[in-house]
Amino acid sequence: MIVLGIETSCDETAAAIVTDAREIRADVVLSQLDDHTPYGGVVPEIAARAHLEHLDGLIRRAMAESGLGFADIDAVAATGGPGLIGGVIVGVMTAKAIAAARGLPFVAVNHLEGHALTARLTDNVPFPYLLLLVSGGHCQLLVVEGVGRYRRLGTTIDDAVGEAFDKTAKLLGLGYPGGPLLEKAAALATNPGRFDLPRPMVGRPGCDFSFSGLKTAVRRHVEELGTPLSGEDQADLAAAFQNTVAEVMADRCARAMRQFKEIHPQGGALVVAGGVAANRTLRARLQKLADREGMPFVAPPLRLCTDNAAMIAWAGIERLRLGQTDPLDFAPRPRWPLDPTAKPAIGKAG
Ligand code: ATP
Ligand code: MG
Ligand code: FE
Repeated sequence: MIVLGIETSCDETAAAIVTDAREIRADVVLSQLDDHTPYGGVVPEIAARAHLEHLDGLIRRAMAESGLGFADIDAVAATGGPGLIGGVIVGVMTAKAIAAARGLPFVAVNHLEGHALTARLTDNVPFPYLLLLVSGGHCQLLVVEGVGRYRRLGTTIDDAVGEAFDKTAKLLGLGYPGGPLLEKAAALATNPGRFDLPRPMVGRPGCDFSFSGLKTAVRRHVEELGTPLSGEDQADLAAAFQNTVAEVMADRCARAMRQFKEIHPQGGALVVAGGVAANRTLRARLQKLADREGMPFVAPPLRLCTDNAAMIAWAGIERLRLGQTDPLDFAPRPRWPLDPTAKPAIGKAG
């Protein structure tokens, strides 16, 4: 089975071609970074127009890279939500048009399920597994029991962790997009232990997260130091923030591992996914925790952590293998939680 995947839910326009033998035949991502940088964040209207402008060309590029033609494609999968609705509509309409024109099945993929199943594309991880989903809009611990079968153990009570990285980077004067820039700055720290930041939720029962207190603490340090910060201050504060986030994550994951083992005594892997999973400090900290707990640890390659269409094509394949497709009147969903029984996190899509 060969599937064309399309991703347009945020500020990456992406197309990919993936086979059910877990082979990525093409994977093209166009970041709209330059379009949004002047505004310090993603502007939904600009994003939707950029998707519209670039998507056809990207699909053509993916086809050319794969050496395949439309006649070789068995189905089309597109992100159906959650995300910025204008962009999602562009991707879904394009996928539906190709599916209708070629008489192919269409699959509307939950973007979060794309992140959640990536480790099965890259490492063939068996169900069940414990998933730490850390991205621009989400921060959740989930038990993944199968395709479409998610049990949420914890979520953020305020900001998503990617959002915390982005806002903190802004406070430090590092610019946008915050996550990768903050990681780069932290690598230059000469005194990473110089600032002592609070560790929200650490030691508390449950598996929920909170990041607003951490951000506020960084703001206080920035105000004390005075702006613009020196490169040294930026680096030391970035390192303190990054290490604290990794410690908080490890504490929450340790608790979730205990719950996971109660639910699934036969065990399973700890998997990390989403844009923040590209962070090397976090990956190293989680690896250490998993080693201590005797759990396998799987983190996808960096480029498959941030938004891409290979994960959407793969989630489409997983659903098609179960005989699941969507009708051509599928309506894009700005909100679409993975665990339908979970109450939505405050102010967050999905
Ligand atoms: P969602 O998946 O929740 O809908 P999204 O698709 O916008 O949100 P992703 O592309 O999955 O988010 O992740 C983007 C986020 O990941 C941004 O907040 C970005 O700052 C963060 N990020 C990317 N690389 C890194 C890194 N190396 N370190 C920390 N954060 C990172
Ligand atoms: Mg993005
Ligand atoms: Fe994402």
